[in-house]
Amino acid sequence: MFTKKKITIFSLIIMVTLLTTMIFFNDSTSFVYLSPKPNYTIVIDAGHGGIDGGSIGKTTNVKESDLNLIYAQKLEKNLEQIGFNVVQTRKNKDGLYTLGTKNYKKEDMLNRKNIIEQANADIVISIHMNSFVSASSKGAQVFYDSNNEVGKQMAIAIQTQLNNGLDGPKKSASAGDYYLVKCTTAPAVIVECGFLSNPTEEQLLINDEYQDKICYLIMCGVLDFFEINNY
Ligand SMILES: [Zn+2]
Repeated sequence: MFTKKKITIFSLIIMVTLLTTMIFFNDSTSFVYLSPKPNYTIVIDAGHGGIDGGSIGKTTNVKESDLNLIYAQKLEKNLEQIGFNVVQTRKNKDGLYTLGTKNYKKEDMLNRKNIIEQANADIVISIHMNSFVSASSKGAQVFYDSNNEVGKQMAIAIQTQLNNGLDGPKKSASAGDYYLVKCTTAPAVIVECGFLSNPTEEQLLINDEYQDKICYLIMCGVLDFFEINNY
């Protein structure tokens, strides 16, 4: 038989347990939705490298792989300045494969995937320069994996910043069949910064100030994405 006192203590324990659960639930909810999550890790991937130079500039013969690295490093500076952890897949002009490997492209891609996994990336941004047979094509465009809805939201956020901040044609973020956006469950995008096959845009893409502008706009898009998703 419970005494009155025992019943009171029992009720009190239940109440405290319930309250603690509620407070804990509220706390964890507000942590996820209101507080900025510290130590976000952003993997930046400078596309191509080594013997894989990617696209080549029509008039200057600039290699896409070299430009991608410059943009990746500028973007890293921007993102680190505002407190993100940044991991680069490629830190120099070399590709991510053993020299002389027959299927070097596959090894290169797998190594990039491993770096993304080991970094436990919160988001992935792969930098590329576009090229097309028609020299008239121009403009920056962001691609995402059609199966990754959050990645799509990030692509739209970055595309919106690029469209608002650049004078070129306004493009739409599009689904793209790229290994780098499909190899991870993290939101991942490919940013094609512009067309090296368009001589006017090629001149812009090799310009230091234009590079700064694009990297700044990508950073703004990333911040918009985190804000929209209440990270
Ligand atoms: Zn490329």
